[in-house]
Amino acid sequence: MAAAPSPSPLLHADPRFAALVIATARLDCLHTGSRWTEGPVYLPATDELIWSDIPNNRLLRWSEGAGAGVFRQPSDYNNGNTLDREGRLVGCLHGARAVARSEHDGSRTLLASHWQGKRLNSPNDVVVKSDGSIWFTDPAYGIDSDYEGYKAESEIGGCHVYRIDGASGALERVSDDFERPNGLAFSPDESKLYIADTGRTHRADGPHHIRVFDVVDGRRLRGGEVFATITPGLADGFRLDERGNIWTSAGDGVHCYAPDGTLLGKILVPEVVSNVVFGGPRHNRLFITATTSLYAIYLAVNGARRPG
Ligand code: MG
Repeated sequence: MAAAPSPSPLLHADPRFAALVIATARLDCLHTGSRWTEGPVYLPATDELIWSDIPNNRLLRWSEGAGAGVFRQPSDYNNGNTLDREGRLVGCLHGARAVARSEHDGSRTLLASHWQGKRLNSPNDVVVKSDGSIWFTDPAYGIDSDYEGYKAESEIGGCHVYRIDGASGALERVSDDFERPNGLAFSPDESKLYIADTGRTHRADGPHHIRVFDVVDGRRLRGGEVFATITPGLADGFRLDERGNIWTSAGDGVHCYAPDGTLLGKILVPEVVSNVVFGGPRHNRLFITATTSLYAIYLAVNGARRPG
């Protein structure tokens, strides 16, 4: 007798969602046993998924053939990850309160640790633009307690968004009106930058939305209106597909938004989701970090072709 079929995790909110998903696809749980997973990044060179288990101070790896294992421990409480144009891992370190690059020889280069002489709070998520510049958010989650880093006072006194110049390495602040800036991602043509505010984690009526900015001259931000308010939960992390749809974490799974801000549908996940990334050899599998576990589901749309 065949086993009872598992229910579809797909929830349609708009007719456009049907073209983005595979009706028969199911959610695969690839690994469990972490405390708080985050920072998924797919490495095309080795066809493996790397992600963070922040409280356990480790980076994990998973591949189709080898399954899951430890990639790096201790990880200096690494949170968000991405790849630069040369395929090097760029990570946000709560421990060092810095953004760092892992070189091909295994050494580590700190790219940003201070703003005007003061230590950053705890860089959270990071994205690399095609010009080599590195954009990251700096909320205080890694210094709020000893759970995901080392408890400390903020030296800067605010939570901002920064850009590291690709040529000079200089650090610039690109936005200073967030409560808790968190996930961020460019539109496929890099004309827009989406940035989440997860301020609700420390204030009951705080923001739980994604804002959208115009990217001016490739290096400055303009605008910043609310693009989508996430309910339930938070837009901790998100990625875009090749059509510019936003696939974001939420309290009940992954929510998919059209570029016009319409909720198209959801992938229901049994744990609170923190972040997602497109991966797999065809770039059509969405990897999902959710509290204690790593999940994945195949989609009918491919991820935007960007580093990381
Ligand atoms: Mg985050």
